[in-house]
Amino acid sequence: MVVGAGFAGLTAATELAAAGIDVTVLEARDRVGGRARGLQVSAGGWVDAGAAYLGDRHTELHSLMAELDLKTTPTVMRGASRFALGTEATTRDGRFPPLNAVALGDLFERLDELTATVRPDAPWLTPGAGELDALTAGAWAERHLTHPDARLFFPLFLGEMMAADPAKVSILHVAVYLRSGGGLRYLNAFEGGAQQDRIDGGAHQVCERLAARLGDGVRLGEPVHAVHQDDDGVTVRSAKGEYRADVAIMALPPLLADAVDHRPEPPARRAGDRTARGCAVKVHLVYPAPVWRDHGLSGWSVNAEGPLLSTVDDSPAGAGVGVLTGFVTGAEAHRFAALDPREQRSAAVGQAARLFPMLPEPVGFHVTDWVNETYSQGCYAALFGPGDWVRHGPGLTAPHLRVHWAGTETSTEFFGLMEGAIRSGRRAAEEVLARR
Ligand SMILES: Cc1cc2nc3c(=O)[nH]c(=O)nc-3n(C[C@H](O)[C@H](O)[C@H](O)COP(=O)(O)OP(=O)(O)OC[C@H]3O[C@@H](n4cnc5c(N)ncnc54)[C@H](O)[C@@H]3O)c2cc1C
Repeated sequence: MVVGAGFAGLTAATELAAAGIDVTVLEARDRVGGRARGLQVSAGGWVDAGAAYLGDRHTELHSLMAELDLKTTPTVMRGASRFALGTEATTRDGRFPPLNAVALGDLFERLDELTATVRPDAPWLTPGAGELDALTAGAWAERHLTHPDARLFFPLFLGEMMAADPAKVSILHVAVYLRSGGGLRYLNAFEGGAQQDRIDGGAHQVCERLAARLGDGVRLGEPVHAVHQDDDGVTVRSAKGEYRADVAIMALPPLLADAVDHRPEPPARRAGDRTARGCAVKVHLVYPAPVWRDHGLSGWSVNAEGPLLSTVDDSPAGAGVGVLTGFVTGAEAHRFAALDPREQRSAAVGQAARLFPMLPEPVGFHVTDWVNETYSQGCYAALFGPGDWVRHGPGLTAPHLRVHWAGTETSTEFFGLMEGAIRSGRRAAEEVLARR
């Protein structure tokens, strides 16, 4: 039995089915994919409302895609960027913001140094873990960043990279995230980095194709609320019924895994009171064409004021439209999510027009609010708050009798990414197979 039909759960189920095990996947939503979701913006044109970008180091995702006959499409990043970082919006070649280069260099160096100290396989054993884990990223910035430009840029960087509010996340978690994802330069880079490509037609297709192969084994609309174990097996209760299995893999974000009634209770919780939800709202502005390209602009922008803290050109190839994706993250995501649809449109379309004055009226406008998604509780991923790594890290993957844990938040490799989710699913399936 697998609970959750995201990348992690579907990978685990696929591995188990391939080993000849009769496997059922229970999924709360009426669709598979979890934090990956497709959005149709034109006839034949799809964009990613959730997870989107990948790089060459995401080897498990690439091998799954090859198996499922899915291709990548490069992220377009040609031309100058726009920056609105306090004064008038400016245009500048490349992606380096028009801020004090020495101050930003110092910020990146400090983060690199911190990242290098992390024990990648066991972050809670990092030298000085207790102290680093007790400190929020905000408090760390207060202590170490003196230049106003570094202080301005740090929250924007965390928002874009992790959908994190610096006040909510421990600096150890930031370092773990950077380390597990290949370092800040790899994570942040388009060409040669983790943002290099998208999946042609949308990342959700990976999950849809995996689910199609599992057929009737995937059951939608089945939120699981209880997992009770005894000597002979596991009883899993969902809104629709009761299932019996030898073992269960819980492939859920930690806050949702904790919300299930487990008996006996696991020795430790999956999350704590300070585990925060990553906060992201994605906005897709659809235009008749990617007109910014004709003006030498890449569509990339970074902005100190919201709602769109950054924008990127996500136009689907050959679909006859231009798409700017706007990222609304951290505290700004909460503010934006609370607006009514008319206010959201006016704020986002107005800001895009100020950044890119050549834009015509959009022909489509879509908001995907991950802040209020009952069955995600953290997007891009859960944010480990002060104390979480030290307290919960050691038990992250330890099976609880017949219950195994998966999900991107259980992976110390590519934590928070599709790649991490797939690796966690494979690991959990191996654990189950090793029981035989
Ligand atoms: C806006 C956004 C942008 C992102 N960008 C990227 C990116 O560019 N690149 C990248 O690699 N990653 C990105 N991510 C992160 C990526 O989406 C996740 O790391 C990955 O999808 C997590 O997969 P998972 O299987 O671990 O969890 P999920 O996808 O959350 O799957 C868990 C599943 O369990 C289901 N579920 C929850 N509770 C229950 C219950 N009680 N009973 C039954 N089912 C339940 C959920 O509905 C869901 O389907 C992004 C995410 C978001 C939201």
